[in-house]
Amino acid sequence: MSNPLIQVQGVERTFGSGEMAVRVLRGIDLTVEEGQLVALYGPSGSGKTTLLNMIGALDRPTAGTLWFDGKDITRMSDGRRAKLRRTQIGFIFQSYALIPTYTAYENIDLALRLPRLGGRERRKRAIAALEAVGLNAWASHVPDELSGGQRQRVAIARALALRPKLILADEPTSALDTRTARRVLAFFRGFAAAQKTAFVIVSHDPMVAELVDTAYDLHDGKLIPHVHIESVAAAHEPPAQPMQEEGVS
Ligand code: ADP
Ligand code: MG
Repeated sequence: MSNPLIQVQGVERTFGSGEMAVRVLRGIDLTVEEGQLVALYGPSGSGKTTLLNMIGALDRPTAGTLWFDGKDITRMSDGRRAKLRRTQIGFIFQSYALIPTYTAYENIDLALRLPRLGGRERRKRAIAALEAVGLNAWASHVPDELSGGQRQRVAIARALALRPKLILADEPTSALDTRTARRVLAFFRGFAAAQKTAFVIVSHDPMVAELVDTAYDLHDGKLIPHVHIESVAAAHEPPAQPMQEEGVS
């Protein structure tokens, strides 16, 4: 039916050694298909970011193998892994990782220069992405002039603008109000369907589990099916409309 974009097999990650060793990932198996949305839950410190770093070729496992689009990324050179990251993977980091001296627009533009997209294409994509997150009026502002939620939306727009095969989103709605969060997540769904982009979304928000195809809990270094907790958010479905600029988010 569909193709696995990501395959994770027996992945372990231990930090430190000897007495001080911390075994964070203890045997992770995971498959993510093209265009699939996967949610990852787990308490703080359970290893969610560590697992995203493995999938995104930012860190290497202590044991086990990861394939991206059929290629074993655990055996790839650092150079090829870097190229894979800048061309195929959109990162929405927990800390946003925006360049403070660049405007919202320039932050997105830079991410599109790395895969060497032309000027016209970069401009088109950056504007479309800023519009998608309701930030077109803020394009020429630097991060310091934006609220936490607006910064988070710039980070989201930057990942979307790349139109990558995979987006890794580390708590991507943590700074957004419920309504904006729901709109962003609904946009992810449509984007995944239209672009065949797969999403792995780390979250604490029960709303995310309702929007994705599959949800897991990271527990004792392993993935188990997510235990669904009835969400009150579902009872407050916002009307379908473009994302509005809301000063608080
Ligand atoms: P989560 O994202 O679920 O909150 P993390 O993946 O950030 O958790 O961290 C999981 C555990 O791994 C924590 O105990 C953290 O201290 C440890 N850890 C993460 N990265 C490193 C590192 N580079 N060196 C040492 N320990 C680390
Ligand atoms: Mg984390």
